[in-house]
Amino acid sequence: MKNFYKNLFLIISIFISISLFFSFFMTKNNEIIDLSLNQLAQKINNNEVKKIIISGSQLNILLNDDKKAIAQKENESGIIETLKNLGTKEDALQKVDIVVQNESGLRFWAGVLIPTILPLLLIMLFFWFTFRQAKSGINQAFTFGRSNIRLFSPKFHERITFKDVAGLKEAKEELTEIVDFLKSPKKYLDIGARIPRGVLLVGHPGTGKTLLAKAVAGESNVPFFHVSASEFVEMFVGVGAARIRDAFQTAKSAAPSILFIDEIDAVGRQRGAGLGGGNDEREQTLNQILVELDGFDRNTQLIVLAATNRPDVLDPALLRPGRFDRRIILDLPDINDREEILKIHARNKQLEPDVDLKKVAVRTPGFSGADLANLINEAAILAARKNKTKISQNELFEAIEKVILGPERKNKSISQKEKEITAYHEGGHALVAAAIKESDPVHKVSIISRGFAGGYTMKLPIEERRLKTRKQFLADLAMMLGGYAAEKIVFEDISTGASNDLKEATDLTRKLVTRYGMSNLGPITFGETEELIFLGREIATEKNYSEETAKKIDEEVKRIIDHVYNLTISIIKKNKKILDKIAQVLMEKETLEQEEFYELLKPFKLKQVSINF
Ligand code: ADP
Ligand code: MG
Ligand code: ZN
Repeated sequence: MKNFYKNLFLIISIFISISLFFSFFMTKNNEIIDLSLNQLAQKINNNEVKKIIISGSQLNILLNDDKKAIAQKENESGIIETLKNLGTKEDALQKVDIVVQNESGLRFWAGVLIPTILPLLLIMLFFWFTFRQAKSGINQAFTFGRSNIRLFSPKFHERITFKDVAGLKEAKEELTEIVDFLKSPKKYLDIGARIPRGVLLVGHPGTGKTLLAKAVAGESNVPFFHVSASEFVEMFVGVGAARIRDAFQTAKSAAPSILFIDEIDAVGRQRGAGLGGGNDEREQTLNQILVELDGFDRNTQLIVLAATNRPDVLDPALLRPGRFDRRIILDLPDINDREEILKIHARNKQLEPDVDLKKVAVRTPGFSGADLANLINEAAILAARKNKTKISQNELFEAIEKVILGPERKNKSISQKEKEITAYHEGGHALVAAAIKESDPVHKVSIISRGFAGGYTMKLPIEERRLKTRKQFLADLAMMLGGYAAEKIVFEDISTGASNDLKEATDLTRKLVTRYGMSNLGPITFGETEELIFLGREIATEKNYSEETAKKIDEEVKRIIDHVYNLTISIIKKNKKILDKIAQVLMEKETLEQEEFYELLKPFKLKQVSINF
């Protein structure tokens, strides 16, 4: 639309300049005198006229005093006749030089063309612009079908290789194999090996799927094409499919090559699962991927890499042998990998010489590679804000909390009473965690509000673990209820500060019953969880059990929570003096680190209990 107005403006200004030009061109000079034929006859009689040039119906007259004049005659009649009729004397007329001239070419054509052709020309011009506009629109519509495929050929110094990817050893080995195949396919084909066609990288967000794919691009000396599946999802049905076709076409024509489809779950979700009517576009796009994957033979040296963090929602057809039949799982990094990742990202940062990244790795279980990269960056920002030139250990620790809980909100003014409630609440969490044998040790207690939390108590597992037991879950549950219980006992009242704890506790307990088989209802799972296709969020848990069972589940959830809550209450009642002390110190110091906290507990000789029932 903007273009249209631009063109319109252009046309109008052309029109104006043309008419200005002609009107200027045709303006009569001021020095030229207009004469009627009578006046002309008189001037001839007075011998004032030197020359008359007849051009069409116009008479250009040159007077004796070198002035110019013009006069008009009727077209048909001869000028001499006319002048005679007006009483010009014959002899006077003979002295005048009379020249008959064809009408001047330009003048003539201008006279004819301007009134007739010019408007026509302008209209044509207008249509031409409009059509050109429309045509470019059509061209844009055609590029819809093009994939936004990118050939990945980073400059040498910014090339990512396997060295830039920490951990992920198995994944790297598998991918090395593939790179090797593309480099020397003969070796594999001669021995009769079937080369994988599709490789799926599976892992939590931020575990380095995209990074690893880029590293493959850097390691292999073959063309590496990169598309993001979300780019295939368009409003118009068929566009995605066309783009897929184009992407495969491009990659195939450059074979041996690698095609990387990032976030493939954007199109690869199970068909027929669309909410409120199918999603034709997505299905067509997915079908096209399947067709393309089947459509090239073994000798085409194209390998398709894809990444997803939702393998569970992928259409089973995608995972069938011959398609994405190789799956590489990218785990969250363990403690050693975390240290490696931190080292990689600390390479171009200024660290104090005594910084121990291992200590940071210890405190960050569950962090992904992306979280760790973010952590280092946050630490650098913190250090810069303090006008330091190097990052110290403290900034790194601070950054951990910032990444987990959001920034500190120190200047938020809270009343003394609120501060007291928060101190007892957090003290309750910490005390319960310390008093239960199966619980992880308390890592930090603070009543400084962060993000949405009024205060926080962090605990940290002593060692990495991949499995969690029922007792550990129950210990978590007790700790979650600790804040609520403390408020209840100390103030005989409850604040809204506990609401999030209660929600988490309830969710966890429900999972124990319905998912993990950790309740009296036995080793059964209840309900099938459906996902909202577009947001990937749980929207509804389909009930595949009777009302009666539903009631039993509710009762079991309540029974577990009640039991754990009673234990929590008894711990706090028994150790009320310790809670008072913790709260008092918290109000003074606001934050207690692990060592300070356990130092504080020492004189009280806290008796640990085991959680089991
Ligand atoms: P995703 O799995 O979501 O595609 P990315 O590959 O985009 O994750 O990772 C995001 C960032 O996290 C990377 O750019 C990198 O800085 C960092 N990262 C993740 N995993 C690793 C790793 N194993 N080694 C080094 N950096 C990593
Ligand atoms: Mg990614
Ligand atoms: Zn709490």
